[in-house]
Amino acid sequence: MPKINLLPKNVAELIAAGEVVERPASVMKELIENSIDAGATEITAEIQRGGITYMRITDNGCGIERSDVPTAFLRHATSKIKTDRDLDCIGTLGFRGEALAAVSSVAKVEMLTRTENSNVGTHYVIEGSEEKAQEDAGCPKGTTIIIRDIFFNTPARMKFLKKDVSEGNAVSQVVERIALSHPEIAFKFIRDGKTVLNTSGDGNLKNTVYAVLGREFSNSLIEVNDSINGIKVTGLTCKPVFCKATRNSQFTFLNGRLVRSGTVIAAVEQAYKNSAMVGKFPAFVLYLEVPFDTVDVNVHPAKTEVRFSDEKRIFDGVYGAVKNAITQSDTRPEIKLNAPKFNPFQNVTAKEYRQGVIEERVQKQEPIFKSEPKKTDFSTLTFRNNTPTPEFTRKFDTMGANGERIPFDTKPKVNIDIDIVEYNNKVIK
Ligand code: ADP
Ligand code: MG
Repeated sequence: MPKINLLPKNVAELIAAGEVVERPASVMKELIENSIDAGATEITAEIQRGGITYMRITDNGCGIERSDVPTAFLRHATSKIKTDRDLDCIGTLGFRGEALAAVSSVAKVEMLTRTENSNVGTHYVIEGSEEKAQEDAGCPKGTTIIIRDIFFNTPARMKFLKKDVSEGNAVSQVVERIALSHPEIAFKFIRDGKTVLNTSGDGNLKNTVYAVLGREFSNSLIEVNDSINGIKVTGLTCKPVFCKATRNSQFTFLNGRLVRSGTVIAAVEQAYKNSAMVGKFPAFVLYLEVPFDTVDVNVHPAKTEVRFSDEKRIFDGVYGAVKNAITQSDTRPEIKLNAPKFNPFQNVTAKEYRQGVIEERVQKQEPIFKSEPKKTDFSTLTFRNNTPTPEFTRKFDTMGANGERIPFDTKPKVNIDIDIVEYNNKVIK
């Protein structure tokens, strides 16, 4: 048996780094999360050649004290938790104290940072875990970190990187997703010298969605805002007719962190069950706020997988909130089939409708309208349809479920007993 050796520190760092630093996108995620944890309200991310040769993240957060800078690059060095008990209640994005150590072991890293209380900032350089420089620097409050030549000392890992474009796209996706999770932070993303994303940071989710996902998506959304069983669900979800062919436009943020959760996706899709076409998937940006102690984020170093202590509670909360939002946004008149004593719309074609068949039928219904003054006023009916929405904009008195007359003036949410309505000879339901 060969002799057992304790690995040198730099080799141990390289092995550990493999879990956190897979590619430029994973580095970008860790570093932006650090900026968010530092309380930044403005974050600029820049990459060149897909992030392989150059990545820069600049924030206006709290900065790091001079004496803490070298420590921040050590493994298991973090300002975010102190004891094992803190692990049960994680409120920051980082906590493992691994990112800076991992990145600096596989790349050339430069940091400029200044806290509010110090007049001078710090310039720190570390390459392949080796400290190269630490000196005074004039810089604004906050932190800038520059990563050059990722995997310069691990050619084997370098080979696994994809083309610049693919790596750049992956970075871009990370920045977009994080920008969506924090509408209150102004994000700027510069790719090969071109600004490709600019969010306002005004806290308005719709503006952020517009900046990140574009106009088409923004115009088809329903607002979600509910709190069920202590699970707060807010955000935006698409109208059922705008469901998509893929699940690419599904974003879930749990306590501010982008996560992938089968439970959440299943709950949302269940809520769409009878409204969306089979084989289409809802697009959504949902923010879940759950008590920190009901979720375990310490499952995987990349922290995108989460485990809930009570899956059903999460499912019910998300399902209920989304279902309520869909139902409330549904502008279709309620179609009730109970007690259809008299249905003036029964089998009416568009032509007959124009000829006044409805009025005629209503007037003939002596027993129902006998005591009422003879008046034909029509309330507005809007029937949802995938083709251009047919609008019946005529006024008349309608009937409630029990045959009572609802005068037009009260503008009821239309509640007529309808079996089938035909419009342009098409059945609308
Ligand atoms: P973690 O985020 O898990 O604590 P990191 O290795 O990512 O571990 O960072 C180590 C420490 O360095 C953090 O706990 C924080 O105190 C400090 N730090 C890192 N990035 C920043 C930043 N952008 N602004 C202020 N402090 C930072
Ligand atoms: Mg971190």
